[in-house]
Amino acid sequence: PEKEDVVRAAVREFPDFPTPGVLFRDITPVLKDPAVFRTVIDLFEVHVRANYTKVDLIAGLDSRGFLFGPALAQRINVGFIMIRKKGKLPGLTESVSYSLEYGKAELEIQRDAVDPGQKVILIDDLLATGGTMSAACELLTRRGAEILDCLVLIELLSLRGADKLKPHRTHSLLAYD
Ligand code: 5GP
Repeated sequence: PEKEDVVRAAVREFPDFPTPGVLFRDITPVLKDPAVFRTVIDLFEVHVRANYTKVDLIAGLDSRGFLFGPALAQRINVGFIMIRKKGKLPGLTESVSYSLEYGKAELEIQRDAVDPGQKVILIDDLLATGGTMSAACELLTRRGAEILDCLVLIELLSLRGADKLKPHRTHSLLAYD
C-alpha cells in the first residue's frame, strides 16, 4: 500500500467528541505504532527536502504539534520551537488571541524563540478552520520570521483552512472531506 494509506488506516474517528456533532480524528494509533509514526516523519521529511533548501526552525503548535515537530526537526537537523497556549512560557513572550467556535483562545511564543529573517516551518496534527494555524503564523510574522510552510498530518477540506492561511503555503499528508 501507499505510505499515505498506511497512515490513514491508523487514524480513528470518534463521533460527538469533544462536543455533539463533531467527528474527532484521533491520531493516537499513529503514535503507538513505531512503523506508522516513522512513515509520517518520512513523508514530512521528503516534502521538506523536496521543497526547501534552507530551513532554520520547525515550530510546533500546542499540543499535538509537539509530537511530530521534534521528530521532524531532528531528521532535517534543525531546531524546534514551541508555540504554546497562553500562560505556559516563562520570560518575555508575545501573544496573539484568536476566535474559536465558542469563545477565544491565545497562543504565545518566547520573544527569543526566533530571530528576524529566520525561515520557519510550522507543524500541527490537524488543520480544521485554520484559526489556530493562522494565529501561529501571525505570531511568527510579528517576530519577523519568514514562514515557509504549514504542515499537518490531516486537513479537513470542507472547512477551507488552507484558504484562510493564504498566502502561506500548506501541506497535508491526508485530506478528508
Ligand atoms: P482549527 O483552528 O484549524 O479550527 O483547529 C485545529 C486545531 O484543533 C488543531 O490544533 C488540532 O489539534 C485541533 N483539532 C480540531 N479538530 C480536531 C480533530 O478532529 N482531531 C484532532 N486530532 N485535532 C483536532
